[in-house]
Amino acid sequence: MMNTVVRMVKVMVVLALALPALAGAQVQAIVGAGLVDVIEGRAIENAVVVIENGRITAAGPAAEVSIPDGAERIDLEGRWLAPGLMNMHVHLGLILPGLMTAQHAGESDAELTLRMADNAKKSLHSGVTTIRQPGDSRHADIALGRAIDRGVLPGPRIVSSGEMVNITGGHGAGTEMHHDGPYELRKATRYQIRAGAQWIKIAISGGIATPVGGIGQPMMTRDEIEAVVDIAQRHGLKVTAHSGSAEATRVAVEAGIHGVEHGYFLDRDVLRLMRERDVWYVPTIVVSQPGTFDFFERIGSPPWYMERVYEVGQDHWRALEMAIEEGVNIALGSDQFPYEPNDGTTATIREAEYYAEAGMSNLQALQAATIQCARMLDMEDDIGSISVGKYADIVALEANPLEDISALRTLGFVMKEGRVYRNDWE
Ligand SMILES: [Zn+2]
Repeated sequence: MMNTVVRMVKVMVVLALALPALAGAQVQAIVGAGLVDVIEGRAIENAVVVIENGRITAAGPAAEVSIPDGAERIDLEGRWLAPGLMNMHVHLGLILPGLMTAQHAGESDAELTLRMADNAKKSLHSGVTTIRQPGDSRHADIALGRAIDRGVLPGPRIVSSGEMVNITGGHGAGTEMHHDGPYELRKATRYQIRAGAQWIKIAISGGIATPVGGIGQPMMTRDEIEAVVDIAQRHGLKVTAHSGSAEATRVAVEAGIHGVEHGYFLDRDVLRLMRERDVWYVPTIVVSQPGTFDFFERIGSPPWYMERVYEVGQDHWRALEMAIEEGVNIALGSDQFPYEPNDGTTATIREAEYYAEAGMSNLQALQAATIQCARMLDMEDDIGSISVGKYADIVALEANPLEDISALRTLGFVMKEGRVYRNDWE
């Protein structure tokens, strides 16, 4: 008996010694590429990035960074390294009116989860290493995020809101949802938190994809919004709001929300209020712009849907331009699958290009797609830039995106936490 215990302890000691030794062997060095520092806004030619166990331990000019003996070299000569892209408005289970609705009618929980896992894999492959999911069905997003964290499935890191907290008849509310008044909204918020939500998403106005009510109508009342914010804050969570109008946004910002999604119709006054209160704006500008019309045709969007898209297009663009002028903090979100083909690239990359077209510098557009998202998520210690101590979430491009944001179109390499998921140049 004693011998058995001793043997077991010995085995455990050997395992304990072996594990760090194995893990310690995981040292990589990316060499030959330029590096974009999104915090300082500078480009470093011929840089070296050293990665140990998935985290960056050194990054800088080749002359200043020593490569540890035995490091696995990843040669990306002539390419440019940028932080893994982030997309803050993704529904991996997205179903829009038209062919998608018909195709996925009666989708089971298992089918939904598998479809989302496939979308997660494609998203990562397209260069997106972290997403926020502001509302998906049946908590499949939470299960999927945990599976990805455990390394069971490939995909971006997921920060999830669970299901959207909604009112009866609100935008995106299913027919079974009946939460009205502050009491019921408190309960609905707690339900999402118990399920594992890391943010809370509410719909305070109408939207494009719901044929009932105007897009700008402020459907959720002030006391309802305050109730949600109160419960979320008691759990240390932030609240972001689907909002279609300045009127709805003003009430919600005054009630203490932390983020505004879409903002199809916003004015300068409310944008200034957002900036004063440090409220984030996630524009999802692709959903209303011509680059996406091909997509709507492909998925058979019905005429009423397209009418609503056309209705918001110009004002949505103006809201984005004004938000940039007013210095509102913007984090990139597409409200399309991150990898969805859009105007010859992906929805994520097209979204970043639109920001530059609407007035951002190339650096600001790249920041909106990386470090700004990390800041919004309070995760800037771990992600958002190629910096010592952070996870090695890195993409590589054929050109320097600080000179032209469209360099993102040449993305051909994706690493997440030190693991290479794509290398087109091998
Ligand atoms: Zn959405």
